[in-house]
Amino acid sequence: MEFFGADERAEINDVLETGILFRYNHEAQRNNIYKARELEAEVAKLVGASYAHAVSSGSAAALCAMVAAGIGAGDEVIVPPFTYVATIEAVLLAGALPVFADIDDTLCLSADGIRKAITPRTKGICLVHMCGQMADMNAIMAVVNEYNLVLVEDAGQAMGASYKGVYTGLWGRAGAYSFDFFKIATAGEGGVMVTNDEQVYKLADNYSDHGHDHIGTNRGMEQHPIVGFNYRISELHAAVGLAQTRRVPMIIEQNNARKKQLMERLGKVAGLSFARIPDPDGDSATFLNLLLPTEAAARQTVSELQAAGVGGFNYWFTNMYHFINQWDHIKTMQTASALPIEKFGPPQDYQNLDLPTAQNVIGRLISFGIRASWTSEEADTLASQIEAAVTKATLIDA
Ligand SMILES: *Cc1c(COP(=O)(O)O)cnc(C)c1O
Repeated sequence: MEFFGADERAEINDVLETGILFRYNHEAQRNNIYKARELEAEVAKLVGASYAHAVSSGSAAALCAMVAAGIGAGDEVIVPPFTYVATIEAVLLAGALPVFADIDDTLCLSADGIRKAITPRTKGICLVHMCGQMADMNAIMAVVNEYNLVLVEDAGQAMGASYKGVYTGLWGRAGAYSFDFFKIATAGEGGVMVTNDEQVYKLADNYSDHGHDHIGTNRGMEQHPIVGFNYRISELHAAVGLAQTRRVPMIIEQNNARKKQLMERLGKVAGLSFARIPDPDGDSATFLNLLLPTEAAARQTVSELQAAGVGGFNYWFTNMYHFINQWDHIKTMQTASALPIEKFGPPQDYQNLDLPTAQNVIGRLISFGIRASWTSEEADTLASQIEAAVTKATLIDA
């Protein structure tokens, strides 16, 4: 979200010159300009996906991924309590029932947590790769395979992250990336779903455009094999997303250099540790994720950081909307219209969830957004500021 330049402008201008802001059809006027298609090809190339499909948001990409993967009415889907709330909304909009399971120090669902949440009605998992890192895929794939679960990945925060060479989003049936303003590549608004399964791709493609089959060049002559809705991306958004996606390898490289530098320095500070990164070589390094010894120490450190005018936030005791403690409306299923819960009954007691590791780990977590544009001096300054805040906080705490 920090680099906008001549490339983004040139891509947008291509679209404005033709005047065709719609991604489909208008072959005669569009002068062969297809930015949504190009964005899809660029994302597919970046992560090695057989298919990529661009839509209007990361939330829409997660919904399209779930629906196309075969998740539907009354299915139980295991989800983490630490994610952006869109993951849970997508499960509900698919007609399915979210079942919360525990996470671990990777900040993602753990294999043990998933195991404990499985019931005879479990259809699948929506695994979320949080804070630019990745889940512990070896352990998770063992459970997925043992129970034959449908795996969908919400990699909204982890496009370009990988585990042992396989990119997040491509471990299961479908995955989703976000291009909103706060993500590694932004289109203003936008999302991309990826899959290696042609049938899943086709369903997502049709579903995101009212069921249009996109066969032929005349929209008025198309067939509509399935019910869908409008989750289309515009050519303007796709144009920006395309230029941004080309920058992702550079951003990841820079982020990693700064994150390594910060971790090396802060690793020596008493009381500090880090969220576990199952494959450090695959980190997209968009966030530095510190773990303090206790929730009280984290709280004190955040207030020291704030007093010193330094960034850094906690998802547990601030209202970041990424943690179940902020989701009372979901626990009570407050909504404008009927949710699947009313029809099928709650799959678990949402008001009394037992997620001890999530409460413990997220309470102790302090995250910092990393900027690819930082110089190594700037990262050093931040390390010193963090060290000072932690030292002060630990003294008060003791
Ligand atoms: C950002 C995000 C989303 C939603 O993406 P939008 O493009 O804002 O709709 C979904 N899931 C996760 C994990 C996210 O971080």
